[in-house]
Amino acid sequence: MRRHAIVIGAGLAGSSAAERLAARGWAIALIERAQAPGEGASGNLAGVLRPLPSLDDNRLARLTRASFQYTSAHLATLTAAGLPLRWGRTGVLHLARDERHASTQQRVVEAQQPAADYLRFVDREQARQLADWPVANGGWWFPGGGWVDPASLCRANLERHAALITAHYGCRVARIERHADRWCACDAAGDRIAEAPVLILANGSATRDFPAAAHLPLRAARGQVSHLPAEAVSAPAIVVCRLGYVTPAIDGLRCAGATFAVDDDEAALRVADHAENLAKLDFILPGYSRGLRPEALAGRVGFRPLSPDRLPMIGAVADAGAVDPGRPSPPLDQLPRLPGLYLINGFGARGIVWSALAGELLACLITGEAPPLAGELVDAVDPGRFLLRGRRRSGLRLPDER
Ligand SMILES: Cc1cc2nc3c(=O)[nH]c(=O)nc-3n(C[C@H](O)[C@H](O)[C@H](O)COP(=O)(O)OP(=O)(O)OC[C@H]3O[C@@H](n4cnc5c(N)ncnc54)[C@H](O)[C@@H]3O)c2cc1C
Repeated sequence: MRRHAIVIGAGLAGSSAAERLAARGWAIALIERAQAPGEGASGNLAGVLRPLPSLDDNRLARLTRASFQYTSAHLATLTAAGLPLRWGRTGVLHLARDERHASTQQRVVEAQQPAADYLRFVDREQARQLADWPVANGGWWFPGGGWVDPASLCRANLERHAALITAHYGCRVARIERHADRWCACDAAGDRIAEAPVLILANGSATRDFPAAAHLPLRAARGQVSHLPAEAVSAPAIVVCRLGYVTPAIDGLRCAGATFAVDDDEAALRVADHAENLAKLDFILPGYSRGLRPEALAGRVGFRPLSPDRLPMIGAVADAGAVDPGRPSPPLDQLPRLPGLYLINGFGARGIVWSALAGELLACLITGEAPPLAGELVDAVDPGRFLLRGRRRSGLRLPDER
């Protein structure tokens, strides 16, 4: 196979896939309808990087742990290479919702004995000291977590192997077609933007506009984040989460959020959503929103590409037309696939966490290298899982633990 791929979408998903393939010497045609990378869901000022442990160490917990560790190493590599990445390894304090949750968090740490530089349980007083603000409960402390400017991560990914990545900005792909052994990406006039043996769909929930991917249960989840004016040395200097999050001050602003509404396509900021974010903020840091007026806040709206089981979709696109809906489907590894068509998508509320490992996994699946995850976890993110019928599905619905 010629080592040439088209990637549609220059957000966290597309830039990560492009970076991992270019690192292997592949030539990439990257097509993005916006004028720059990281203008879609990946365009927030900052988002949170942290894993999500669970008592039973379920697939989400194992996947977020592996992804957190891989992403942390990737960020360090990009920084060491002098690339223009903006992030802060400030630590993340994930406060318990209530006493019961605090005791579960504590049991997780006691049962799993994680390394102290990965996860510790801190009591309420320790949490108060870390946040430099009174808090209602103790919680998980991830010393290696922090905030990341996602658009800067997209740019750094693309700059790392810039000679191998040809970017077509301001270009919307209207159609994808397969001719002989090549995929073509065409614009609305039918003109060919690029062609290659491999095509990667990394264009968020718009992926479903292409008939080959229309069977995927991708949805868009609107999220609004609020920007709070912040003095540089004000508290907290770490990320604090509790059914929402607040970041340290970044260029005079602190991000607080975020709302979450499925199939809500309002692109404009809403005062009511700022009010919701301020209420979340007060739940995290009691009294913090005093003096902040929702109608005076700035912010940003984005649309997260969401899968029903909250796990990402990474791998070869199944040939839905070749699967008989009336019969039990074959196992995942025998599901018919569309040759050369791949997906990296469904990142939901965790794109910063998933992206680097997702890009590496996809590159391994395309090139036939050993994947960086156990087989069960590779199956759990296989986009074919949604076509399995009459069998236990790999990606069973998990609770939404934002
Ligand atoms: C408010 C909010 C808060 C969040 N907070 C966090 C957080 O704290 N931590 C975390 O890990 N994650 C967070 N996320 C989630 C994370 O930002 C997303 O999961 C991630 O950005 C998704 O990346 P993506 O590349 O799949 O999508 P996108 O960034 O949307 O990229 C898709 C790209 O495809 C392009 N495109 C679409 N259709 C076409 C076409 N036909 N032709 C060409 N280009 C096309 C779009 O313009 C876009 O740039 C948050 C998201 C939101 C909205």
